[in-house]
Amino acid sequence: QGLIYEGHKIMPYCARCGTPLASHEVSLGYKDETIDSIYVRMKVGGKDGEYFLVWTTTPWTLPSNVALAVNPEFTYVRARKVGDDAVYILVKDRVQAALGKDSEIIEEFKGADLVGMSYEQLLPFLKAGENAFKVYPAGFVSTEDGSGIVHIAPAFGEDDYQLGKKFNLPILQPVDKQGKFTAEVTPWAGRFVRETDLDVTRYLKSEGKLFSKERLTHSYPYCWRCDTPLLYYARKSWYIATTKYKDLMIECNKQINWYPEHVGKGRFGNWLENMIDWSLSRDRYWGTPLNIWKCESCSKLTSVGSRQELAERAIENVDPKTIELHRPYIDDIHLKCECGGRMSRTKEVIDCWFDSGAMPYAQQHYPFEHKDNFDQLFPADFICEGIDQTRGWFYSLLAISSFLSGRPAYKNVMVNDLVLDKNGQKMSKTRGNAVEPWGLLEKYGADATRWYLLAVSPPWTPTRFDEDGVKDVYAKFFGTLQNVYSFFTLYANIDGADPATYDIPVGERQEIDRWVISRLNSLVKGVRADMDCFDLTRVVRAIQAFVIDDVSNWYVRRTRDRFWASEMDNDKMSVYRTLWEVLLAVAKLSAPFAPYMAEEIYQNLMPGSAKRCTVHLEIYPEVDETLINPDLEEHMGLVIELVSLGRAARNKVQIKVRQPLSEILVNRKKQKILVPMEGLVKEELNVKAIQYVDNPDQYVSYTIKPNFPVLGPKYGKFLKGIEAELANGDASQFIKTLRSSGELKFTINSTPVTLKEEDVEIRTSEEQGYVVEMNGDNYVILNTALTTELVQEGLAREVISKVQNMRKNAGFELTDRIELMYTADDEVAAAVAAFEKYVADETLAVSVKRQEQTEAGFEKWDINGHAAEIHVVKA
Ligand SMILES: [Zn+2]
Ligand SMILES: [Zn+2]
Repeated sequence: QGLIYEGHKIMPYCARCGTPLASHEVSLGYKDETIDSIYVRMKVGGKDGEYFLVWTTTPWTLPSNVALAVNPEFTYVRARKVGDDAVYILVKDRVQAALGKDSEIIEEFKGADLVGMSYEQLLPFLKAGENAFKVYPAGFVSTEDGSGIVHIAPAFGEDDYQLGKKFNLPILQPVDKQGKFTAEVTPWAGRFVRETDLDVTRYLKSEGKLFSKERLTHSYPYCWRCDTPLLYYARKSWYIATTKYKDLMIECNKQINWYPEHVGKGRFGNWLENMIDWSLSRDRYWGTPLNIWKCESCSKLTSVGSRQELAERAIENVDPKTIELHRPYIDDIHLKCECGGRMSRTKEVIDCWFDSGAMPYAQQHYPFEHKDNFDQLFPADFICEGIDQTRGWFYSLLAISSFLSGRPAYKNVMVNDLVLDKNGQKMSKTRGNAVEPWGLLEKYGADATRWYLLAVSPPWTPTRFDEDGVKDVYAKFFGTLQNVYSFFTLYANIDGADPATYDIPVGERQEIDRWVISRLNSLVKGVRADMDCFDLTRVVRAIQAFVIDDVSNWYVRRTRDRFWASEMDNDKMSVYRTLWEVLLAVAKLSAPFAPYMAEEIYQNLMPGSAKRCTVHLEIYPEVDETLINPDLEEHMGLVIELVSLGRAARNKVQIKVRQPLSEILVNRKKQKILVPMEGLVKEELNVKAIQYVDNPDQYVSYTIKPNFPVLGPKYGKFLKGIEAELANGDASQFIKTLRSSGELKFTINSTPVTLKEEDVEIRTSEEQGYVVEMNGDNYVILNTALTTELVQEGLAREVISKVQNMRKNAGFELTDRIELMYTADDEVAAAVAAFEKYVADETLAVSVKRQEQTEAGFEKWDINGHAAEIHVVKA
């Protein structure tokens, strides 16, 4: 298709690697470096004491200078510097910068007047022919830096080369392939050019040709492979005319789903918009030999399409089955040209990025194999690599597939950003902040490490890696899941329960079973939706929240008693079946992220008959919409929220949950939802009653003040006014408005001011005997007054709790009956007596005896501040 051509182009070249670099490679290696930029004086032809002032940042290119360039539109001057008799020619805008403040302008004229003037060669090591050492017009000359007169060395710059082509300038190229000066440049022959800048400058000074020098920091490209500064070099190279396919590539890119989207549109999109032709060849030995053959007689170019074709067209005897296609063997093969001449392979090899981009075809040995089913193998559904690959693999894949197939090689691409340390610094061994991954895997396992990396932030943002976070995931998520799983297997083993062997319709199970199954299906639905758009962070966070909050902290805690029930009735079968379904689904949902843990749970819970050889061959869970009950989820959600508020209220006044309280007061608006679930809330919060109130104001009063640290920067000069507005208004009204609309609006000094919740500080002070916790519309007002009966019950519950501990520590079976003996003061004894049946039932005690004296085996306890000693033995 004529897309391959041999070009002469100035290209970034690594002298150490001996190869030109593609622009996507150059962009990988920019570094800031400080160099000497110099002004040199070039003597105007035939005029003593008059010089062109010329600026350069690459003194080593001066032996190759063949011309000067000026912008014909600009105003130039002849000028003198204080204390210097010489006359300098330069652009007017740069006189002060180059010559100093007190310089004197002798004459002004247009740049066009300089065109055609000649000058003396600055460093005459090489001879230059016609057209050399004259001033030429050029549009690229600017007045941003330098003198407005540009030194032209066509061998070493793109602009220079183009100007040289236009005016037929000679090319002086005294630099060899290793980047060293050739013999003609006698003072520095054999030295790497970039290391001679200082010596060139000294030499110019000794010859009286240096005008001035100054340190300059600029960004310069280095070889990404070997860290050698690149040289810009006129070289022969083979190209693919990718620019001819630019529109198609942009079109193909639009068909790709980028995660995150902005990389595809921004970084990668811009890269495509500004693309240049792909330099395909590399002057190296190892690599894929460039498949271009040239006739030694007529210069015709050709390529071969297969081993077979190579054998047919070769002059030498070639066995297509065994021919070694790499160098040096392939270099011995020649082709017959139509003209009767001999064709030999060009010596270069192919850019390895081309190999990477050819992967989708090469890995299938296409088109020699898989021609029929290639559409099933291509394009890839998903690829994933680092952000730097926008100029590497993402590009090479797209370029080649656009040429060959007219479509992208991948449908979805996820772009990873870097993993940084916990303070956002790049990890480095020298700084000592690098994390050794093997240690983490030893300590927490691959599952927890992977889970953490997904959960902490989306992969396409830089990850701040903190080992404490891995530890947290390990303890909270994996620890909790492990506990739930162990709880299940422990009791299932005791009971000989095998929930895989039976089913109970979800509709016939208890409300809380239906609730957790509903939550599970909502989770599956959300996870699938998030997976569809590759938001894995939301996925793992949702699974995590479900396991910790819904399953462990609520479902298992609330249903524990049912596992302890002595009869294997329908209810017990339901709870087993429900938890079994939940655990199995969590294993399947987690399998892509925590493959080992998921496999263990799956292998142990799945009965042999239905088991696939691994969880990773299971179908990913699909939602059963009929099992989702939004009302139930909302109602239970309210219960969970109120329980959590109630616990927080208890915490605030340091009354533990074991101490029963008389009542809580909640919002009457929630009454309808809450009434059927009151029992649950009462039990969880250990209160005797729930009252409904219209307005919490009689139990709590508010003050609302500006949150100065937040508001200060936003509304500095209005702070006083805001404070006054808040102080003078009705605080509870403000809070109502804030909670319903999300903001408070004022006009202060005739300027509108809007406050959000984070802008204000709300303090509550409760009526004596009450404590309040709120969140939006929900609140729990806890009545903290204690009657004698409540205190006694609290003591009895405390005794029960101690006895349960002792049973556990003594290793009693859950079903073992005990005899309970204790010593305590009268107050505790009265409480135990008042609640004796309750204590006995809860602890499976056949007898509860107070003793005067302790004996061996009695254990000391603190019962809400009362000393007591307790003894338990098997009955
Ligand atoms: Zn290199
Ligand atoms: Zn030929």
